Amino acid sequence: VKKKASQYEKQAQPVKQTAVLGAGIMGGGIAYQSASKGTPILMKDIKDEALELGLKEARKLFAKQVERNKLTNEQMAEKLTNIRPTLSYGDFGNVDLVVEAVVENPKVKDNVLSEVEGMVGENTILTSNTSTISINRLAQNLKRPENFCGMHFFNPVHRMPLVEVIRGEKTSDAAVGATVAYARAMGKTPIVVNDCPGFLVNRVLFPYFGGFSLLVEQGADFQRVDKVMEKFGWPMGPAYLLDVVGLDTAVHANEVMAEGFPDRMAREGKTAIQVMYDNDRLGQKNDKGFYAYE
Ligand code: NAD
Repeated sequence: VKKKASQYEKQAQPVKQTAVLGAGIMGGGIAYQSASKGTPILMKDIKDEALELGLKEARKLFAKQVERNKLTNEQMAEKLTNIRPTLSYGDFGNVDLVVEAVVENPKVKDNVLSEVEGMVGENTILTSNTSTISINRLAQNLKRPENFCGMHFFNPVHRMPLVEVIRGEKTSDAAVGATVAYARAMGKTPIVVNDCPGFLVNRVLFPYFGGFSLLVEQGADFQRVDKVMEKFGWPMGPAYLLDVVGLDTAVHANEVMAEGFPDRMAREGKTAIQVMYDNDRLGQKNDKGFYAYE
């Protein structure tokens, strides 16, 4: 990329009101983080239950802050009012920046991004939290691709400091600037990266998941692999990390990586990760993945 993240911030328009599409693992986490640092956020989903879950998660995280005496009950209540759950685009007219965090499916994302573009102002910045899908590809159906870039958070959002800001071919400096500024306001460390399947972090992480999958397919005990990687010094092993990420998200992301880098990422037959997914073992989101949860 041409410039470092800090150099884009000078051109940043203020980001005062934001919105997140999808109230899942990531959408809920993004809403919490934004609310916690004081930027109001609309949280939109298509399902009431998803909104409930997203809010429940945010409340849990705020309650932990109260337990640790970092927040009073009054402060928690005030911060929670920064999150406004909704099933409609009714209040999107005055939103400065939108983070799309719906399922990792290019067609669904295309529809959602076109839909929201019709609901926001001309200067609103649209971003996608996609893990792997090319930003140039997602920009194709947009009327204002200059206002669009990637804003890739990591899971769990409240703990992971990095945010990848992905610049597409048509992304303006102003859009990158506003996104970098919002990431910073959320207490995160933004880096600006070029567009490619998987961007920077997942280009490293998915070959690692692939290596882990091969080990398991060849008979390795996943729990032992996890223990070894913890001893190596990583905070968690690959099986546990896959449970945190979600096996569905990992499978969909891997498909995009295999399409983008067939020489390195495409595999014959089913991977151990695919087998887990086929057996509805989605990880922590449905209480069963490599490990069983309550
Ligand atoms: P998730 O399955 O937990 O949540 C997706 C949410 O999107 C669901 O609540 C669903 O109801 C909602 N949704 C579906 N269609 C919608 C629509 N049209 N409008 C509004 N909401 C809609 O998924 P997730 O793990 O939160 O992943 C979301 C995105 O974030 C994906 O693109 C994923 O690749 C990316 N991501 C995931 C992780 C991770 O570790 N899980 C990390 C970084 C990025």
